[in-house]
Amino acid sequence: MNPFTVTSPATVAEAAATLAKGNAAILAGGSEILAGLKAMNSPATPPATLVNLKTIPNLSYIKEEGGMLKIGSLTTLTTIAANTTVQTKYTALAQAAGAAASPELRNQGTIGGNICQKMQCWYYRGDDNLFNCLRKDSKGICYAMAGDNRYHSIFGGVGGCFAVNPSDTAAALTAFGASIVTNKKTWAIKDFFAVNGENTTALAADEIVTEIQIPTPATGTKSAFTKFALRKSFDFPIVNCAAVITQASGTVSAASIALNAVHNLPRKATTAETSITGKAINAANADAAGTAAVSGATAMPANANTTTIGNKYMIQIAKIMVKRTILACA
Ligand SMILES: Cc1cc2nc3c(=O)[nH]c(=O)nc-3n(C[C@H](O)[C@H](O)[C@H](O)COP(=O)(O)OP(=O)(O)OC[C@H]3O[C@@H](n4cnc5c(N)ncnc54)[C@H](O)[C@@H]3O)c2cc1C
Ligand code: SF4
Repeated sequence: MNPFTVTSPATVAEAAATLAKGNAAILAGGSEILAGLKAMNSPATPPATLVNLKTIPNLSYIKEEGGMLKIGSLTTLTTIAANTTVQTKYTALAQAAGAAASPELRNQGTIGGNICQKMQCWYYRGDDNLFNCLRKDSKGICYAMAGDNRYHSIFGGVGGCFAVNPSDTAAALTAFGASIVTNKKTWAIKDFFAVNGENTTALAADEIVTEIQIPTPATGTKSAFTKFALRKSFDFPIVNCAAVITQASGTVSAASIALNAVHNLPRKATTAETSITGKAINAANADAAGTAAVSGATAMPANANTTTIGNKYMIQIAKIMVKRTILACA
């Protein structure tokens, strides 16, 4: 592990000023970034300084205000999952926060860190920078493209990278149409995620997430989150899905559905939304929406493997996650 110093800013502005000097990274709960530093995933660019957000007061809260839910970026996943307002009115987010990682990691991990975590790709995550891939070096190659890509994108790759965004809460926040507030601006969630070097967000190097905002759902809205992972106790998603569905007179009047872990970025399943809108929520209609959600999907060689894993297994799982999530909103 490379040596680094930790600063303890008292304000967001002080933290941003340290980040602006360069060669520094944000430390929130530390559950993701410290693992990467220990493994020396990217020894070419180790941050010399970690800027510890936990010494900044008032970044952990959940409140309803001005027609929206506001969550401070240092709020832990455990706190979000246990909050009765979130459970009742923003159910998919409570379920997503409660499904991420393990109880210990949820106690430590924050929502800001959850949406800013780096991608999951075993080549990228190789110890001691074993694979200096395209995301670390623009002259590098994508090892997953010709290698073991069983957990990689089924919707193509941005800029030649096929690694997926692994965040559980990102799916829920995308379905809710959340906004992400930083020290510089307020991002619509659709613009927040990006393939940006080693980063998974469009944030500038001195930009800090301070708050997540979710508009209050309309009357008659229910939401749900589902996740498929290899280990049920704790694991990153193979596929996750969140749906926010409003019903009137027994039919769907509005639907917002998001998949994650299937592409570089959280993906709005717009074809599924169109498919279920105007219909009753039942098994046949939810199944049709699931089929619509994966209509443009293309399996990679290892996640289409027919002999060892199952035919286009990730596409099939994505389809079923959409179906189950819609049914959970009935
Ligand atoms: C074994 C294991 C299993 C996991 N399983 C899951 C899982 O199933 N689902 C899942 O979603 N995640 C999972 N994670 C990832 C991670 O633990 C969680 O996403 C956690 O919420 C990260 O939060 P943190 O506060 O610890 O982030 P940190 O580790 O402190 O930071 C993560 C990244 O976000 C940046 N960052 C943090 N806060 C901010 C901010 N406010 N503004 C801008 N940038 C910021 C950091 O610089 C860093 O790059 C897992 C991690 C481990 C080690
Ligand atoms: S999928 Fe992306 S992160 Fe993984 S090896 Fe290819 S370029 Fe690197």
